[in-house]
Amino acid sequence: MTIPESVKIGGIRYKVEVVDALDVENADLVGSIDYRKQRIQLRAGMGSDITAQTLWHEILHAIFVNLGFDQDETRIEQFAAVLNALVVDNPEMFEKRAALPAGLNGEEAAQAIAQASMNIYGDKSA
Ligand SMILES: [Zn+2]
Repeated sequence: MTIPESVKIGGIRYKVEVVDALDVENADLVGSIDYRKQRIQLRAGMGSDITAQTLWHEILHAIFVNLGFDQDETRIEQFAAVLNALVVDNPEMFEKRAALPAGLNGEEAAQAIAQASMNIYGDKSA
C-alpha cells in the first residue's frame, strides 16, 4: 500500500503523517487519529505491512465515528486485518483507471480512448 498524503473519509479529508513521535505519546501506540485536527499519525520505522494495517485501523476509527458505531478496538482491528488483506490479495480490483482530460471534443476523446486502450491491451492492428 502506498501511504497517501491524505485520505478522505465520509467527506472529511485527513492528513496522513509518518512521524517519529505521535502527538498522543504512548510507547504502545503505533498510530493515532485526531478528528478535530483531521490528522492521522503513523509511527515511523515500522514494516510496510504493519504500517498499512495501522493506517486501516485509523481509517476505521474515522468510519466508525462517521457511522456512530462504538469505538470497539477489537472489532476495528479485525476489520483492519481483513480489509488490508482484501486489498493486498486483489490488487487488480483497486488499480487506478485513467481519466480523460476535461474539455476534449468528440474526436479527441475517441483518440484518447483508443490510445488508452492500446496502452492497456496493446496495438491489435500491428
Ligand atoms: Zn484504535
